[in-house]
Formats: sequence, C-alpha cells, structure tokens
Amino acid sequence: MSTSPFLLSHPAKANSIKRAAMCRCEICGSPGTEDELEVHCFAGEEAPGSPEALEGSLLVLCARCHEDLHASCTSVADQEILARARRPDISKRIRRILAFRPGRYEPPDSDLEGAYTDACASKYGNLI
Ligand SMILES: [Zn+2]
Ligand SMILES: [Zn+2]
Repeated sequence: MSTSPFLLSHPAKANSIKRAAMCRCEICGSPGTEDELEVHCFAGEEAPGSPEALEGSLLVLCARCHEDLHASCTSVADQEILARARRPDISKRIRRILAFRPGRYEPPDSDLEGAYTDACASKYGNLI
C-alpha cells in the first residue's frame, strides 16, 4: 500500500470529500448520506499526482448518476467540465483534504500508477 498524495483508499478521506461537496450529488444535486453517495474517479492517461489534478478528476455522485455516468461512457473531457463546474470554495476544500498526508511522504518515484489503481478500486473508499 502506497501513501501517495492522492491515495484515497481510506474511507475517512472519501467521506470528507462527500462532506466538502455538501453531501450532494454533483450531477443531479440530490442530497445523500455519506453511505449513499459515491466518489467517482476518472483521469486521462496520466494518473494525477497533485491534489489539484486529482480534485479535477473526481465527482461526488449519487448511486443513480454514478451508474448512468458509467453506462453512458461520458468522455473524460465532459467529466472534467463537470468537475470544474464545482463551486470554488468546494474545490478548495476538496484540495485541502487531498493534500493532507498523515505520516511519511513517499518520493515521486513510487508506484503512482499502482497507487492510483488502488485508489480507484473502491476497496475501502467508494472510489469506482
Ligand atoms: Zn445524482
Ligand atoms: Zn465511477
């Protein structure tokens, strides 16, 4: 397990992101609990390394919108538009959560791709 800056495999971090997004789906706006909402993670070819890049690659979604998004094969560019439409104060809060790294820092030559895959594996953090 890596502890790279964007590793979100801890549920507390995913839940903090949902709270930062006011516990609302960022597509339809419907409210949900931390258990109901999911953090969707998308990215281009490069795994994002900075909190800013990762913040631009996430969406807090209700289960229905999340399912629809995957089913519709929405392009990464369109998903980025959705992530960038987020209110600036919410973006700032999410970036702060992502930038927070308890414990030791791993140098950038660590397995970023693997860490990113882990982060998106939904094993612990609802990142799918
Ligand atoms: Zn929704
Ligand atoms: Zn997803």
